[in-house]
Amino acid sequence: MKVVKFGGSSVANAEQISKIIDIVTADADRRIVVVSAPGKRNGSDTKVTDLLIALANKVLAGEDHEDALMDVVGRYAEIQLALDLPPDVVSTIEADLRGRIQGRGKNDLQFMDTMKASGEDNNAKVIAEAFTKAGHPAVYVNPGEAGMLLSDEFGNAEVLEESFGKLAALSENEKIIIFPGFFGSTKSGEVATFPRGGSDITGAILAAAVKADVYENFTDVDSVCAMDPRVIDNPPAIDCMTYREMRELAYAGFGVFHDEAIIPAVRAEIPICIKNTNNPSAPGTMVVPRREPEHGSVVGISSSAGFCAIYIDKYMMNREVGFGRRLLQILEEEDISFEHTPSGIDNMSIILRSDELGAKQERIVERFRAELQPDNIAVEHGLSLVMVVGEGMHYTPGMASKATGAFLQAGVNLEMINQGASEISMMFAVKDDDRIKAVQALGAAFFK
Ligand code: ASP
Repeated sequence: MKVVKFGGSSVANAEQISKIIDIVTADADRRIVVVSAPGKRNGSDTKVTDLLIALANKVLAGEDHEDALMDVVGRYAEIQLALDLPPDVVSTIEADLRGRIQGRGKNDLQFMDTMKASGEDNNAKVIAEAFTKAGHPAVYVNPGEAGMLLSDEFGNAEVLEESFGKLAALSENEKIIIFPGFFGSTKSGEVATFPRGGSDITGAILAAAVKADVYENFTDVDSVCAMDPRVIDNPPAIDCMTYREMRELAYAGFGVFHDEAIIPAVRAEIPICIKNTNNPSAPGTMVVPRREPEHGSVVGISSSAGFCAIYIDKYMMNREVGFGRRLLQILEEEDISFEHTPSGIDNMSIILRSDELGAKQERIVERFRAELQPDNIAVEHGLSLVMVVGEGMHYTPGMASKATGAFLQAGVNLEMINQGASEISMMFAVKDDDRIKAVQALGAAFFK
């Protein structure tokens, strides 16, 4: 059995919905279909979720919201007309939205979630009708009724463990299931949503619950690229990578998934396949629990700007018991998370995101001075991290020299190297100005 998820651009209009009907019905294993709200139809368009947020804000502000409501209804009316569905599809959606507004309770966050969730909820109902009309009987399933139970952190809810057992029963359904993504129900029956982009989470939860053979995530690219196409032309495609590789690449700027979104599928070891709605015969990119990589192979190179380093020197630091603990405790007390801490005999560097340090910088440096009594302390901003990632890098001699050789040739000055902490990646810190040059040099060295 396959759980299939279609993102906003894949269900943005009637043309896209017709494509997903073809995709789903081409493979009898595609039995559970998770859908987003209609997304952008073109570059300058607005997603239905954003229209709904605008509508909810108008209601909350006590402003006239009639036009905003009709903007949302209009998106579904366009779909209904083009797919030749019964006109009452649209009046039902309008009545649903008015009902949600009228039923508004005291909790504004919960109201916002109810409105946001309507985007996927109504789209799933329309899509189920479209499948059935096309001769492929499909049923809409309501997440709350099916057992998608969430915490009551509105807008940022998390799935409750007991959901998995309840949702497992979905696998027994004979018809194709159309399941709205992005939301579920609290134990007291209120609608709650995951963070934005949360339909990916719904798909991963269902895949884990029904123990799917694969979780297919349809979007608008043929496959994940090994490097950012904005940085180099025609980067190679990734056929297969492991969860760990994906996480390391996502860490430094890879926009495949929000890595937290797929945790349920990762825990259940469900393979994930990223595919293109507009070109479904392309094999896509598989993300799997483990694989036998080629020795010395690199799967991807990613980079991200906006980091800073705090360098601390103290003679005989290595003998000072508790130095590291005191340093990290200061960060904890200041509620700052750090990224890396490469260290030497008499020095320690802490790499942080610049916006994490922000206005706290002066106070932190003062506390480090007073409580750690270093010989020297310096803060450097404007750093980028560049990650070279691949399961096959482990214990392969020559990987670092290949990278540093490429930097040398390109005239990129290295601020820091971190290799060995992770078996499957090398991390380089370079100045922001050198980031693109660094990534291009590595691309030429590893993907020749
Ligand atoms: N429609 C929601 C959003 O735009 C959820 C999703 O598409 O995954 O964030």
